[in-house]
Parts: sequence; structure tokens; C-alpha cells
Amino acid sequence: MGQLITPYKTRSSVDLVEKILEADASGRITIIGDKISKLGYPVDVEGFDNGYNIISGKDIRSDRIKVVSAHYDGDGAYDNAGGVVVVLNIMEKLRDGNYPLDELRFAFFDLEEDYQKGSEYHLSKAENRENVVRNINIDGCGIGDKLFEVKEKYDLRCINSPNTWTELIVRSDSLPFRKYGIHSKHFATLPEDEVEGLKNNLYPKTVSEVLGIFGRDDISNISEDSLAYARDALIEEIIGGD
Ligand SMILES: [Zn+2]
Repeated sequence: MGQLITPYKTRSSVDLVEKILEADASGRITIIGDKISKLGYPVDVEGFDNGYNIISGKDIRSDRIKVVSAHYDGDGAYDNAGGVVVVLNIMEKLRDGNYPLDELRFAFFDLEEDYQKGSEYHLSKAENRENVVRNINIDGCGIGDKLFEVKEKYDLRCINSPNTWTELIVRSDSLPFRKYGIHSKHFATLPEDEVEGLKNNLYPKTVSEVLGIFGRDDISNISEDSLAYARDALIEEIIGGD
């Protein structure tokens, strides 16, 4: 008999990123929905023109709801299958940690890469939108050991004004939240030494292009450590952040 070798580290999160990445749109809904159910949370599929958001939350009774979001459309492992897996891992850890879940909604948005149509639809229809006080949006996860906040500009006119252009511009699901007056932060991971070189990227399209991941946004670059680090750092932000 051969020796049974147990790897020191599992790669279960990377495997889930790969599974989501390889699935088509309806396959992704099934994978994400099944995982949410297995974690003991309810699943609500919110259909709209050409898309489906996946919404979850346990007994949301609070009048101070925080929405933790990641978009599941797109072709990248980092942007944003990695972000989806991090949110699922957050759901698991919060459940096991007895964190009060009645103020958390988890949203997996469709069509982020088509002008944020999924999150826009969700917010336009959300019954208790006035009770949503924060959004923690994860778009770009699994490469690098640093989690950082991506500053987004809602007013894109400043792109062509050299005098006012000083910040990185990224479109993500944070934008519709801000449009509805909801405080939102967008988080992504990157290697720390790459963050500085990003400031003059003027015409971004997707998060992976903006953050310089474009061209290496594939499963081979996603690390279990990066996903685990992002999960834990984001839980701090969800529980304690402003
Ligand atoms: Zn994205």
C-alpha cells in the first residue's frame, strides 16, 4: 500500500474559486446558492433583465443593515471569483463565531461589469433601503498579502481634468450604493509593493485592469493565504469599521 499523504495546507478556497470560474452563469448561481444553503443561510435569487442577484441574510431585523457584497459575473479568478469565495468564507466564520447576524445582508451581484446593473437593480428595489447604513464591497481578491481600500470616483468627469485627477478611478458595485447615499467602501487585495504604481491609470475598465492584474488574472496566481488574510481583515472591517 502506498503512503497516504495529507497536505499540510488545504486549497479548498482556491478550488472553489476555480469551480466558480469554470462554470457558466447558471452554474455559478447553483454553486453559490448550494454553498450558502450548506452554511445554513437562506438563499434568495433576485431576477431582473438579463441577470440574477443572489441575496442572503439571517433574520435581518436591524434598522442598521450592512451589506457585504461581491459580484460573481466576469472572467477573472481575482476579479472576482476570489471576492465571491471570500464573502462565502466570511459567512462561514461569522456564523461559527456567534456574531449577531441580524444586521448583515450578503449580496452576490450579477452584471457588475455591465455598469453595475445588478447592484443598481437591487438597490432600486430593496424594500428597506433606508435601513441600509453601510456597504462593504469586495472586488478583486486572491493575489497579494495586503487588503486595501480602493478609492472610487463617482463623478467620472474628473478623468479628463489633469488638475483634479489624483486618484485611482475604479467602477464597482460601491457606486450605486453611494448614489443612494449609502456609505460604501471597496476593498481588494494586492502585493504591497504594487499599490504605489497605480495612480495614473486613467481609463480603467475592470478592476483587474486598473489594479494591474490584467494578464495574470488566472487561477494559478490565486493563493489560499491571500483569501484567508482577506477574510479575516474584512471581518474586522465589518464588525468594527466605520
Ligand atoms: Zn470586478
